[in-house]
Amino acid sequence: MTLSAEKIVQIDHRHIWHPYASMLNPLPVFPVASASGVRLRLEDGRELIDGMSSWWAAIHGYNHPVLNAAVKDQIEKMAHVMFGGLTHGPAAELASLLTQLAPGPMENVFFSDSGSVSVEVAIKMALQYWIALGQPDKHKLLTIRGGYHGDTFGAMAVCDPVNGMHGMFRGTLAQHYFADVPRCTFAGEWDESDIASLQTLLADHHRQMAAVILEPILQGAGGMRFYHPEYLRRVRTLCNQYEVLLIFDEIATGFGRTGKLFAAGHAEVAPDIMCLGKALTGGYMTLAATLTTRGVSQAISADGSGIFMHGPTFMANPLACAVAGASIRLLLDSPWQARVKAVEAQLSRELAACAALPQVADVRCLGAVGVVELHRPVDMRAMQRRFVQRGVWLRPFGKLVYIMPPYIIGADDLSRLTRAMQEVIAAEA
Ligand SMILES: *Cc1c(COP(=O)(O)O)cnc(C)c1O
Repeated sequence: MTLSAEKIVQIDHRHIWHPYASMLNPLPVFPVASASGVRLRLEDGRELIDGMSSWWAAIHGYNHPVLNAAVKDQIEKMAHVMFGGLTHGPAAELASLLTQLAPGPMENVFFSDSGSVSVEVAIKMALQYWIALGQPDKHKLLTIRGGYHGDTFGAMAVCDPVNGMHGMFRGTLAQHYFADVPRCTFAGEWDESDIASLQTLLADHHRQMAAVILEPILQGAGGMRFYHPEYLRRVRTLCNQYEVLLIFDEIATGFGRTGKLFAAGHAEVAPDIMCLGKALTGGYMTLAATLTTRGVSQAISADGSGIFMHGPTFMANPLACAVAGASIRLLLDSPWQARVKAVEAQLSRELAACAALPQVADVRCLGAVGVVELHRPVDMRAMQRRFVQRGVWLRPFGKLVYIMPPYIIGADDLSRLTRAMQEVIAAEA
């Protein structure tokens, strides 16, 4: 059965919930028939240049022959087997790649199905670690305002308390500690006062704290802010001093997006626990990983029953692991640093013109991420339509019109995206 474009939209509006969406007043949805390279082809034949990498994930573009082959090869062998009591080559290969590449000595990997779950797993590791060491009172987390770590309950509790749904779920969410947003920009001057809020909270409450969790360098969905690498170095030192674990959520930043393989590389510090997702499979399948050190995993394993209490049904799905391994090798074999640098240079150059627009409060770029922050929230419905009319795919949120294209994008396609951003922002009231 082939559905017409109209029928797809009709069924969609009637039955399907989209991310953060209403079933009464649905926003427009554009049916996609196929995607290739940096282009999405709509059912009506129109083509859109992709500036979103499908939420940070499709770093190699769509329909990549190498990634297609990895999925096809694996599916001929097995699509899935349970991970309880069984294992397989794709998981082993991926685990050895990840542990080699990770910042610092990360020895152990827990595979799960989504970024949010990898954050739940990270939090659980931190809690079990302190339980194992006989300090069960260390069960609170410390994070920074303006963060985003996912939509499940444990993850939601460490998202920004104002724009992260804390009001709505007040009775259910765990209560944690929130430090002020770092003010120092990535390339600006380091100011000692930036760390004061986090330092004070650690000094006052470290006896209750299991871990600090944060997005290194780039706060993504919580506001698209780039902060100073010195902040991370200070956090690492303070966590050591106060005996609190450090969790880096590299779900958005992992695999080159900010110009380093992992954003932690900008500060050359290593966490105790690290979350990966999004670009892990090059955007092909849903897969996430939580990595940790031997110290953490052995402490957990030496306690009582000696087991870590988590085990998703689709853990280490072989198709997802196979394509993740292929995606990482493809990345490492490509001139990805040069590509990301070129995207950064072009975004900086071409988005600079936006800064002169009266609607615009700030323009900032790092790696393959360009952000134009407006003074007021955008009319997403209207803006989305204008972008599609110009043949590009961008999805603003709040006051932010931002771009994070596949690394393989050509200069002409990228210029079409930045020109569309400028024109559409200029047309905002
Ligand atoms: C997207 C994201 C998550 C959540 O990942 P999902 O796969 O959507 O559950 C967590 N942390 C960060 C930093 C993210 O960008």
